[in-house]
Amino acid sequence: MRSESTVLYSAPAGTARRVTLRELRGRDELAVEGVDTRAAVALLERLLDAAEPALRAGSLAATERDALLAALYRQLWGDHIVSTLTCPACQLRYDLSFSLRELQSHLAAGRDPQGSATRVPTADEEIAAAAHGARDGVAALAAAIGIPAALIETASAELEANAPIIDLELAAPCSECGAVQYAHFDLQSFLLQRLLGERQLLLSEIHRLASSYGWSLREILTLPRSTRRALVEAGEGSVRASEWGATQWGRQ
Ligand SMILES: [Zn+2]
Repeated sequence: MRSESTVLYSAPAGTARRVTLRELRGRDELAVEGVDTRAAVALLERLLDAAEPALRAGSLAATERDALLAALYRQLWGDHIVSTLTCPACQLRYDLSFSLRELQSHLAAGRDPQGSATRVPTADEEIAAAAHGARDGVAALAAAIGIPAALIETASAELEANAPIIDLELAAPCSECGAVQYAHFDLQSFLLQRLLGERQLLLSEIHRLASSYGWSLREILTLPRSTRRALVEAGEGSVRASEWGATQWGRQ
């Protein structure tokens, strides 16, 4: 279980905090309900709780949330990201793969999130603005970060340049015919979607542990994810060993 710490630079500018997310437990995984900012904030809020009682995920700037999500992704599945695409030219399927860490350094190169005249909105501000609808939300977001609504486009271009988040178009040349297509990659929804995609696996792990050990749902959901996985694997190992033993026995 690798947990990396992430340095966050919240206002006042220049104040750095080193934050480590605690490991996911089944109940955190089951609580994920969507792939939007609200769902990402709810998940980070749970994982920040113990270590940083004063730090709220909703008060983090989008760039800081992104950095924590990248650390969480690595904790769960490692640094390597693979996404399968279909080539629009030759219709064959191929993999787009890249290192999350390299993508982060590429995005951060030469940029200074603190150097932007515009403040990066927090998740609370983004969620509140989104509740106003597509058009009024822009004005609400502009008001929240203290700029005139007419300047929001300039401000968001400035933020994109100085404080980019991992939500971008990646050039993905086809491995068969070389045709280039652009694939949208958004770390926040990619991570949450992957957790949602594991829901069935999680339920089957819960079922196996409940059957093997007679533990309650509550007890199983409290286990750290790596411990739960290791116990399920150990159980599978012993099933294979007993099947193997039975086979050997049958042959005698
Ligand atoms: Zn192709």
